[in-house]
Amino acid sequence: MKKELTNELEVLKEKGLYRSLKIISSYSEKEIVIDGIKYMNFSSNNYLGMSLRPEVKKAAIDAINKYGCGGTSSRLICGTLDVHKELEEKLARLKSKEASLVFPSGFSTNQGIISTLFSSGDAIIMDKLNHASLWDGASLSKARIFIYEHKDMESLEKILKRAQSYKKRLIVTDTVFSMDGDLAPLKEIAYLAKKYSAVTMIDEAHATGVFGEKGSGLAEELGVEKEIDIVMGTLSKAIGSSGGFVCADKETIEYLINKSRAFIYTTSLAPASVCSAIKALEIIEREPEKRKKLLENAKYLKNNLNALGFDTLESESQIIPLFTGEVSKTLEISSKLMDAGIYVPAIRPPTVAEGRCRLRFSLTSQHSKEDIDKLIETIKTELKLRK
Ligand code: PMP
Repeated sequence: MKKELTNELEVLKEKGLYRSLKIISSYSEKEIVIDGIKYMNFSSNNYLGMSLRPEVKKAAIDAINKYGCGGTSSRLICGTLDVHKELEEKLARLKSKEASLVFPSGFSTNQGIISTLFSSGDAIIMDKLNHASLWDGASLSKARIFIYEHKDMESLEKILKRAQSYKKRLIVTDTVFSMDGDLAPLKEIAYLAKKYSAVTMIDEAHATGVFGEKGSGLAEELGVEKEIDIVMGTLSKAIGSSGGFVCADKETIEYLINKSRAFIYTTSLAPASVCSAIKALEIIEREPEKRKKLLENAKYLKNNLNALGFDTLESESQIIPLFTGEVSKTLEISSKLMDAGIYVPAIRPPTVAEGRCRLRFSLTSQHSKEDIDKLIETIKTELKLRK
């Protein structure tokens, strides 16, 4: 087997698709140190700086002092602490749902929800660009998977018509797409779901804390919270902690507690993660200016990149792709920027389709206008643009 794996790795190397881990020895609000070299960081999901916020860190340390480091058991044995309950109540309120449940990661949340609530005889209707964890959840469920063209409501409606004979029909979509930074048309999806009696599920991983008046997410921003049946998110991005969650009606959550393998057969989320998330959520609700700043930063970078003639696809969020197309060009630009002290990841297949490579900038509220100006100047110099 070792020989076959080595051969496959060689093929990846030849195609420019080999990946290796970058070891970070220091992480501050805007800078990271990789192999002893400092870079300005434009790749983090710590969108609101919560992971490094002193009150959030203190909440984690206090939690360790009170409860210890590990979850020590699965939730149904002796792994459910009072703070798990507090966090779940807080998340349910944030998402305007009856109940909530926390999982060890956003990835396992998506796997757990879909594979538990849907099975053979059901239809799962996916946006083509949904996150990998949604695809894995759908595959595990053994339901029939249908794919509609990205954000294309005609394509979705056609599928809904075809899928009427399936027992349950689920429409599931990211709200902020993780590699394109564009937004799902939730109002239109909710309308079609009602028309064809489908269940709706959204993945608010990149929208929680970022969109909406109280920072709940894109469903809040677009006024469709009531129309969405199942909302998931992660604690690992704007919330700056670790873990994932689902919010829904009481019966759905009770069912997941009883049946979801990804929830039942794993150790509960560590107390430090739980308590740092509670603290970060408190701050996120009372500091709306952070998310406003984040989205202003995003607009500023996008406008500047567009003015230089770059294609940023349809991004409307803090995730901004700079479309490059082919692998070699993408690696070349990414490496030039790295040489100039800027870290931005090159996104290649299989994360995106062939010919759809890009650099993926992600901004935080902690970036200043000067940081973004510096990035733009570096891009101009390194890529020898004249504008
Ligand atoms: N959904 C989306 C859209 C994501 O981008 C991610 C993480 N990249 C996840 C789910 C998984 O979340 P986590 O990192 O907490 O496992």
